[in-house]
Amino acid sequence: MPYDICGKVIVATAENELPRLDELYRRGNGNGLTGLQMLTAEEIREIEPHAAGIRGIRVPSTGIVDYGKVAEKYAEHIVERGGEIHVPHEVIALRRSRGNTIIETTRGPIEAGLVINCAGLQSDRVSRMADAKVDSRIIPFRGEYYEIIAAKHYLVRGLIYPVPDPQFPFLGVHFTRRIGGGVEAGPNAVLALKREGYLKNSFDVGDMLEFATFPGFWIMAAKHWQMSVGEYHRSWSKAAFVRALRRLLPELRAEDLISGGSGVRAQALDISGKLIDDFHFVYTEGMVHVCNVPSPAATASLAIGKYIVNTVLQRGDSNLAAAR
Ligand SMILES: Cc1cc2nc3c(=O)[nH]c(=O)nc-3n(C[C@H](O)[C@H](O)[C@H](O)COP(=O)(O)OP(=O)(O)OC[C@H]3O[C@@H](n4cnc5c(N)ncnc54)[C@H](O)[C@@H]3O)c2cc1C
Repeated sequence: MPYDICGKVIVATAENELPRLDELYRRGNGNGLTGLQMLTAEEIREIEPHAAGIRGIRVPSTGIVDYGKVAEKYAEHIVERGGEIHVPHEVIALRRSRGNTIIETTRGPIEAGLVINCAGLQSDRVSRMADAKVDSRIIPFRGEYYEIIAAKHYLVRGLIYPVPDPQFPFLGVHFTRRIGGGVEAGPNAVLALKREGYLKNSFDVGDMLEFATFPGFWIMAAKHWQMSVGEYHRSWSKAAFVRALRRLLPELRAEDLISGGSGVRAQALDISGKLIDDFHFVYTEGMVHVCNVPSPAATASLAIGKYIVNTVLQRGDSNLAAAR
């Protein structure tokens, strides 16, 4: 499978970001990342000649891969080991019967010893089918991208990231070189008006009513309204999006960018209005509900899988023992 360990630089563009950069460096080392290097402004320019930054961190072990191909490989391993994949089966109900779970789907029932609900944008709804005590709701945040035109790909050699602000669950716009060629710029983080709201005009009355009747939504809206206004502005105004990107890459011009794709993050919000920033799992008999797995959950998918299996084993769930 093609991959490229192209490295990443995280750049601080203002003095007030430096304590957070230092903390990131400390945590990276503490978590066992090897080869982290604190960079001066000149050293940033040696790695990424067009990036801004008064100080930075180089993460040499960061790489890129085509995640579609990773998912295909996982599927291949599952089938090789005798597993079956039923993609078009929408889960519509879950019920316990004689120590197992009956998964009702749009294409008929499936009986399972252990169910792991990782339904992303629908994970809270699926967990409620099992009467799980999940007091969070999934709030969809669309991330929109631009692509840098081919003539300007030289502006980005690897990955250029900002210093994250722990007050917000999303990182902020950044630059990512893609494995198949090309450079992505983004994503922003716009509250989507539909769970699978990949387009700017996506809208679903039922989904909206569900947010509006959840108390945590209004607390979050009051807390983060300024950020939300900024994100909507960047969604509709290319000039505003470019201004945000130019903090990292000052030479970038609006004409260097063309519209790219989008993705929708499944972000869990708790009843007190807190956007949950850690992984969150809820267990019911014979079932594990993956209620919040923000980025980098795709990168960490194998580690998360191991964590779930080990936790269920520790809980002594006999259904898992049978399923292994
Ligand atoms: C814009 C964007 C950029 C990201 N960048 C990164 C990154 O660089 N690195 C990283 O590690 N992570 C990244 N992530 C996060 C990553 O995509 C998620 O953490 C990860 O996909 C979560 O995996 P999951 O399996 O829990 O859910 P998902 O990948 O969302 O999969 C859920 C699946 O469940 C299915 N489903 C839903 N409801 C039902 C139902 N009722 N019945 C049957 N099936 C159902 C859906 O169709 C879907 O296939 C990014 C996310 C976004 C949106």
